[in-house]
Amino acid sequence: MRKKENLSGMIPYKPGVLKEGVLKLSSNENRLGPSPKAIEAILHSINNVNIYPDGSCRILKETLADKLGYKTENLIVGNGSDELMTLIAATYISDGDNAITAENTFSEYTFATILYSGKVQKAPLKEGIFDPEEILKLINEKTRIIYFCNPNNPTGTYVNHTDLDSMLAKVPENTLFVLDEAYGDYSDALDYPDSKKLLRKYPNLMILRTFSKIYGLAALRVGYGIAREEVINDILVTKQPFNVNTPAQIGATAALSDDDFYRKSRSMNSTGKRFLYEELDRLEIKYYPSQANFICLYVGRDSKELFQEMMEQGVTIRPLTSFGLDQWIRVTVGSEQDNKLFIRILENTLK
Ligand SMILES: *Cc1c(COP(=O)(O)O)cnc(C)c1O
Repeated sequence: MRKKENLSGMIPYKPGVLKEGVLKLSSNENRLGPSPKAIEAILHSINNVNIYPDGSCRILKETLADKLGYKTENLIVGNGSDELMTLIAATYISDGDNAITAENTFSEYTFATILYSGKVQKAPLKEGIFDPEEILKLINEKTRIIYFCNPNNPTGTYVNHTDLDSMLAKVPENTLFVLDEAYGDYSDALDYPDSKKLLRKYPNLMILRTFSKIYGLAALRVGYGIAREEVINDILVTKQPFNVNTPAQIGATAALSDDDFYRKSRSMNSTGKRFLYEELDRLEIKYYPSQANFICLYVGRDSKELFQEMMEQGVTIRPLTSFGLDQWIRVTVGSEQDNKLFIRILENTLK
């Protein structure tokens, strides 16, 4: 058998193996657990798993539309926003087309593009921040998609409303601009982009969000996209009929009404970040101020080795080698106890 040429450099995703009893701060999951309202709803939904899920995710879409002030026609729900990234590439990327993203960012943008025989061009970050100038420079007639992660995984940095707006004004109309706001819920910056305003202004903008982070539902796999109706209709063509399962739809819908959990998640995160910043300052460790639920820090040595040593002492972090940042790690902000354990082990390991 001969596989397709575009797959030649690709290897299957290898999930990390976790030792029992080790605190996992490597995947930006919600350390408060899942939304309790979601859990309750999921338990009820289990009785109906003999029936295929609603392929249109009608109730979830209506709830989202209500809450966010869009029409259901502006929404698409995916098996995680990861799935939406591949559906977007399936819709817009043909052999030889280009997508643009940054050098140090989420790997799914590259995966999705290569899967559909596209090429990825990567612009350098500027002091850990997505750099609109560098991205605009790479645009040419083959550019179909720009993937823009805001706040950026793994650096936690963000581009503000004004800068994003001026950038979008310079993006050609036939290039889809995918704004990944997986961590937008955690941002407390006053100038964090108002993506709703931008959507009204730019017909080629698509926003991606997820239930995996602030709602604590990573295992359910639910994410959604917001765009003009025409864009959504084009992408819907590539979607499998039953891509989002029933417990996922019902759990996500219930989570949207769990304001208390949402508030607690945000507040634990900002308290945790304040503590971690103080401790990292004390240890004279350089980091990027973060608008997300993780912090990216410079360890000045091979991060994979550091990962190993820290895991043996009871905590996992994300070494950023695969993100092109060999001597940096990313740590999820957890509870007070989690953060203290992380600092203790980090200090001990770097000593
Ligand atoms: C976690 C994450 C997502 C969410 O992925 P899901 O498939 O919805 O779990 C999307 N984008 C980025 C940058 C992420 O880090």
